[in-house]
Amino acid sequence: MLRRLGADPVEVRKPEQLDGLDGLVIPGGESTAIMRLVRLYGLEDGIREFARPLFGTCAGMILLDRNHLGVVDLEVARNAYGRQVASFEADLELAGDDEPLRGVFIRAPRVSEAGPEVEVLAELGGEPVLLRDGRVLVASFHPELTDDTRVHGRFLDIVREDANVRA
Ligand code: GLN
Repeated sequence: MLRRLGADPVEVRKPEQLDGLDGLVIPGGESTAIMRLVRLYGLEDGIREFARPLFGTCAGMILLDRNHLGVVDLEVARNAYGRQVASFEADLELAGDDEPLRGVFIRAPRVSEAGPEVEVLAELGGEPVLLRDGRVLVASFHPELTDDTRVHGRFLDIVREDANVRA
């Protein structure tokens, strides 16, 4: 998805691979497993101290919350829509855009508390599912599983803004 939008993504497994990146995406998966590997590879401090834009989707959003890496001012409840069978898709309204956004929710987390600075970019049934806290973007769904590049596009906008401020 990022490549389609002109970015040059690389995989990060070790802390030193964070050096020189313009942004970092923490993907979905299983937050307990990802958190265990983050600790094992010594990536915890590296991610905490990564001063560039971050994008967390689903499990990635859980990892960034107050109870995990503490990068985003949110409290997130895991598997809060239920088990695998309770996974679903829904049309979302994306802030500042008329076209509905298809959200794919897979054992998705729910935001249980958001700090005052956190901006809501999309909601589902009155609950935030896409949020921005400064340079950090988080989605409780999987924007990479549709053909719609708008959410990744917004992340790259944040990356560009950040790079311009530094330039
Ligand atoms: N249920 C997973 C977790 O708690 C998240 C699922 C996902 O990333 N799609 O980590």
